[in-house]
Amino acid sequence: MSRSTLTTEDVLALLNERLSSYEHRPQQIELAHAIERTFNTQQTGLFEAGTGIGKSFAALIPAILSGKKVVVSTNTIALQEQYINKDIPALKEILPFHFDAALMKGRGNYLGLRRFEDHLLEQSIDEEFVDWVHDTETGDMSELDFVPPLDVWLEVNSDSDDCFRNRCPKFAECFYFEARRRAEKADILVVNHALLLADAASYGNILPQYDMLIVDEAHHLPDVATDVFSNGISNRGVRITASKALKKVQAPLGLIRDLELESTEFFHRLAYAFPAMKTRIREPIDGAHEFALTLKQLKKWLEDETFEGVLDVGQERERARLKAKAIISTLGGYINCLEVMAKPDPNWVLWIEKGDNSFSKVEVVAAPLDVSGYIHDYVLDKTGLSSSVWMSATLATGGEDPFAYFKRSCGMQGHVIQSRVSSPFDFEKQALLYLPRNLPEPNTKEFLMKACDEIERILELSDGRAFVLFTSRSSLVQSFEYLAPQLPFPAKRQGEMPRKKLVEWFRETPKAVLFGTSTFWEGVSVEGEQLSCVIIDRIPFQSPDDPVYEAKCEAMKQEGEWSWFNDLALPHATMRLKQGVGRLIRTKKDVGIVSILDARMTGKQYGRRILECLPGMRIVRSLNGMNTLEDVFGPRIPEKQTSDTPNEVSAGEPNSQSPKKSGKKSGKNAGKKSGKTSSEEPGSGSGVKEDAGDYSLSSSESGITSWRINTNEIGEWSTK
Ligand code: SF4
Repeated sequence: MSRSTLTTEDVLALLNERLSSYEHRPQQIELAHAIERTFNTQQTGLFEAGTGIGKSFAALIPAILSGKKVVVSTNTIALQEQYINKDIPALKEILPFHFDAALMKGRGNYLGLRRFEDHLLEQSIDEEFVDWVHDTETGDMSELDFVPPLDVWLEVNSDSDDCFRNRCPKFAECFYFEARRRAEKADILVVNHALLLADAASYGNILPQYDMLIVDEAHHLPDVATDVFSNGISNRGVRITASKALKKVQAPLGLIRDLELESTEFFHRLAYAFPAMKTRIREPIDGAHEFALTLKQLKKWLEDETFEGVLDVGQERERARLKAKAIISTLGGYINCLEVMAKPDPNWVLWIEKGDNSFSKVEVVAAPLDVSGYIHDYVLDKTGLSSSVWMSATLATGGEDPFAYFKRSCGMQGHVIQSRVSSPFDFEKQALLYLPRNLPEPNTKEFLMKACDEIERILELSDGRAFVLFTSRSSLVQSFEYLAPQLPFPAKRQGEMPRKKLVEWFRETPKAVLFGTSTFWEGVSVEGEQLSCVIIDRIPFQSPDDPVYEAKCEAMKQEGEWSWFNDLALPHATMRLKQGVGRLIRTKKDVGIVSILDARMTGKQYGRRILECLPGMRIVRSLNGMNTLEDVFGPRIPEKQTSDTPNEVSAGEPNSQSPKKSGKKSGKNAGKKSGKTSSEEPGSGSGVKEDAGDYSLSSSESGITSWRINTNEIGEWSTK
C-alpha cells in the first residue's frame, strides 16, 4: 500500500491492528473525515472536538495522506511534545511509506555557536553549560536540566540581528540553520502559535512555505496574536538599548546622555501620574512626542552610519552593522508605542504597568484592540495556503451559530466547514454536576464563607481528591487559609511550589486537594480516581481590570452592532468554564463530581445558556443522601491510570474499554438553545430541567434529572 492508495480508515485500522494501546472511536473517524473533506475541498474547517477523541491522530492522518506540506501549531509545549514524541512516531511506525516530521521553535531557543564562542573570549561560562554545548545535537535550550541566567543566554543564543548567515564560520554546524533545514524537508512541521504568527507577520520569512495548516488549541490564538502584535517601552529597556548603542556601536555620547536623562524624567513623571500598579492610559501623554523625537535622532544616526571607520578585521565592520540594525529595530517599536501615547488611537489599547513601587521597572504597552484583521490577513489569507483546520476541545459558545464568537475573533469570513464532535465519554454516567441550591450570588459579602462551607461538604463526599478552582487570587488565598487547617486531607495551593511540581504532588498524594486559579483551569490532566472532584467558585467572567477586555467592551457598546455581554463576555466565560469542567473526566473509566458554586448558573438566564454548552451531565441541587462517591457511581471506583497527556486523552494511551463502545445518544432536551433573549435578566424559562428533589440512594436515578445536549451538530455555515 502506498500513500496514494491508503485511506483514512486504512490507517486507523492499521493503528487498531498494530498499536496495542490504540482504541477505536467512531468520533475520531468522524472528525478525521471532516478534516479530510476540509483539506480536499481547500476550505477552512472549525472543529470542537470533545475530550478523549484523539484529535491529533484525526488531524495528522489526512494531513500525512495528502502528501502536502502541513504546519501543526499548538499553544503549549506539552501538546507539541505529544505530537512530536508520541503521535507522529506511532504513525511512522505503522505507515508503509516514509514521511518527514520536524519540530521548530523560535530562534531564541537555539544556541548561537558564534556568539557563544565570542562570549567565551570575554567571560567565563559555567562548566556545566560548556559541557552541554559540546554534547548537544540540537542546541535547544529546553534540553538543559538547569536554567542558565537569562542575561547569559541572551548573549549566546541565536539572534537574527546578530547573524552572519552563510558568511558565518559556524554556518555549516549552526543549530538554528540545521533546524531550518529539517523544517524545510519536513512534510509535517510542528510549531507554536507565537512562531506561527511571527512568521505570518514577517510574510513567511521564518518558516518554509507550507500548503496547509492545523491550528490545535485554537482558542488561544487570538490572545497570542494580541501579544505578538503589541509594542512596549520601559525605562529598563531604554537604558539597556542606550548602553548597547554606546558600547557596541559607539553612538555619540551626547546623544546617549540626552536620551538617558529624558528617559529617566519621562518615566518618573509617568509613574507619579499613574500611581496604581496597572492603569489604562486614555489621554495623550505630555512629553511622549518629544521623547519619540529624541529616539528618532538616535535611530537616524544609526541608519546613516556606514561604519567605514571600523577596521574590517574579523568581520568587525559587519558585526557593528548588525548590532546597529538590531538597535534600530528595537527603537522602532519604542517609537510606535510613544506615538500612540502622544496621540491615542482608538484601534490601540494603552496601559502602564509597574514592576514594583520603587519604579525600577515602568512599562507602557500598546496592544491592538482587535487582532481579527491580523489573523485574517496574515494567517488565513497567507499566500500559498490552500486550507486550514482550527480545532480545540472548547470553541463553541452556544447561540444560533455556536462558533460565531471564535470566527469573529479570528476574522473568519465566508464559507467555513464546522462541527462539534462529542466526546466518547459518557458524561451522563461518569459525572455528576452539583449546583448548590442555597448559596448567595458570588458578588455578595457572605458568599465566600458560605462557599467554603459548601466546599468542605463536597470534599467530604469526594474524600479529597479534588481541584478547587477560583477566578481570583484573593478568593483562592482566603478560602485556602480558612479551609486548609481544618480539612482532613492534605491541601496545597497554587504558588506554594512550581506548577509542574504541584501537579506531581497531587498525583502522588492520596486524597490530595489542590486550590488553584488560572493555570489549573486547563492544560492539566490527572486521570483516575486521584482527581474525582472539581469545584469551581464562580462563572469565570474576565476581569474588567484587563485593559484590552475593557477597551473591547467599550468599543462594542459604542458601535452598538454587538452586545458586549452576549457577544464577548459570555462566550469567553463559557469557553473558560468548559475548560475548568473538562479537568474532571479524562478517560472512559473516570467518574466524579463537578460543582459550580455560582447561583447565577441557575438563577440567571445566561447561566442556563452556559449550562447548555457543558457536557451533558446529570445535575443535582442537593447532596442529601450522598455520603461517598460510591453512593453515586456504584460500589467500585475503577482503577486509576495516570499520564502526562496535556489537553486530551490521546489515542496512544492505554485504555482497556471495549473498542465498540460509543457515546450514548442525547437524552431529554437535546439540542435546545436559548436563542437571543435578554440574557442579563433573571430567567425562569430555560430548557434546562433541574432535579425534582434531593438525591438519595433509595430514589436512585429518579432523584436526578438527566440532561444532555446534542453536541454532535455538523453543518456548514456562512458568515455575513
Ligand atoms: S549562522 Fe548565525 S545563528 Fe548560526 S552560529 Fe552563525 S551567527 Fe550564529
